[in-house]
Amino acid sequence: MKLNTLKTLYINELRDLYNAENQLVKALPKMAKAASSQGLKQAFEKHLEQTESHVERLEQVFQELDEKPKGKTCHAMKGLIEEGSEILHKDGDESVIDAGIIVAAQKVEHYEIASYGSVRTFAQLLGKDRSADLLQTTLEEESETNELLNKLAEDIVNPEALVESELVGASSER
Ligand code: FE
Ligand code: FE
Repeated sequence: MKLNTLKTLYINELRDLYNAENQLVKALPKMAKAASSQGLKQAFEKHLEQTESHVERLEQVFQELDEKPKGKTCHAMKGLIEEGSEILHKDGDESVIDAGIIVAAQKVEHYEIASYGSVRTFAQLLGKDRSADLLQTTLEEESETNELLNKLAEDIVNPEALVESELVGASSER
């Protein structure tokens, strides 16, 4: 697709997001399963439901453009999920692993926040008001999730466990 107009860039970004959200629908249950903290598990379960509605909202946004909902591989999300899954499969202290899962999840939310902020603005510029509202709603849910993860990180992470495992796991990976 040639990027001659803002509309083509908008569609391009929507396809990236559509694929990214669908990747997350598959990844979030694995993150919920791997998390030890009940609060963190619940946060992922809730965000999975929200993510399913993010997919549906994007479908409505495509509809306002008379475009079929179509994804285009989001390599960034693929990479973020791949890195995150390395942490899911590690052995170690539960709270340290939970902290690692939170870092991975926050990277995902920040990616989504950047993308939704842009497409929301593009929708406004293109006069797609209904879509702008839908994208803004999703943007707010991504931000709230990020905030919740911040809070969970404070609650979950037991500083003693972190310091101790630092001493034990002195072998470094470079
Ligand atoms: Fe999302
Ligand atoms: Fe999200």
